[in-house]
Amino acid sequence: MSTKQKHILVTGGAGFIGSHTVVELIEAGYTPVIIDDFRNSERFIPERLEKLTNQKIIAVDAACQDVEVLDSLFSKYNFEGVIHFAADKAVGESVSDPLKYYDNNLSSLISILRMMDKYNTKSLVFSSSCTVYGNPKSTTGKSVVTEDSIHLNPDSPYGNTKLIGEQILQDWIASSSRSNVALLRYFNPIGAHASGEIGELPQGIPNNLLPYITQTAVGIREKLTVFGNDYDTEDGTCIRDYIHVCDLADAHVSAIKWLDLQTNPGIEIFNIGTGKGTSVLEMVQAFEKVIGKPLSWEYGPKRSGDIPEIYANPIKAKEMLQWESKFSIFQAIEDAWRWENNRPKND
Ligand code: UDP
Repeated sequence: MSTKQKHILVTGGAGFIGSHTVVELIEAGYTPVIIDDFRNSERFIPERLEKLTNQKIIAVDAACQDVEVLDSLFSKYNFEGVIHFAADKAVGESVSDPLKYYDNNLSSLISILRMMDKYNTKSLVFSSSCTVYGNPKSTTGKSVVTEDSIHLNPDSPYGNTKLIGEQILQDWIASSSRSNVALLRYFNPIGAHASGEIGELPQGIPNNLLPYITQTAVGIREKLTVFGNDYDTEDGTCIRDYIHVCDLADAHVSAIKWLDLQTNPGIEIFNIGTGKGTSVLEMVQAFEKVIGKPLSWEYGPKRSGDIPEIYANPIKAKEMLQWESKFSIFQAIEDAWRWENNRPKND
């Protein structure tokens, strides 16, 4: 082999965002190594990734707390960097079973950091979430958020695990760690890979808006309930910053490249969103336009804990990572729709 392979450990690499990031890493010339215990993902994903990228995919079936497995992977591949996705992410479940979330999400992060210290691994990209901002309008009077906000107030145990994860990383970097961290606060990922090979695979009834819409349109669900119509927004429904999962995946590659250029240990936070808010009604209308058919939906009561309006100011990522989103919600809906019609159905 003439050039040295750049191995990147991707924890949770068979999941929704992880699998799309594996594709982007390969396209950028990296060699991803997946560690995933498939608790929330499907075992056929590595095969799909092989078909899609025409490359052998290294995928290890293990939890991130499995120190022996981690140790053998770190010693074998001498990773340039780690992208840490592996975490439980269902907000509702985190309310009913908080210890599961604190245990899994924090202990996996800590095992990864211990291993990075042991092997002097240079770069870490951490999956955080805009959920750490809580309801920005109630604290800052604005719905657009910047990374320097001091009003961090997640409203679920899941969100708390992301904020505590961020704090662990700040403390780790302030200690003798010699690594560099890019902490990415994701907004709302939607869509699927344009190939139709990979996409979101919600287990049971989807919590998120677009999977619920696509499942309604194919007849798995009877009707979408739009949660609330008297919020203080233009059309009375909640506003989010929906970002195509391939744009989000691409942000990880930009972060890995940026980390590689850093010479001193440090940590930077980046919002990864489009900078544009879309209401639930606008999403429904956009979907109907893309598929050319009306969707069955009705208004229902507000969902407890919903933030009326939040969207990213993504300028820092543009300036420092040279990254910005490229796809519209229409492209994301088209890709999600293609995926819904082709994806393996387990429900
Ligand atoms: N939503 C809805 N019906 C659904 C699922 C979601 O009206 O069946 C709304 C939800 O109230 C929120 C928006 O869609 O305003 C996005 O919800 P999602 O759960 O996808 O993201 P999050 O609220 O976590 O940002």
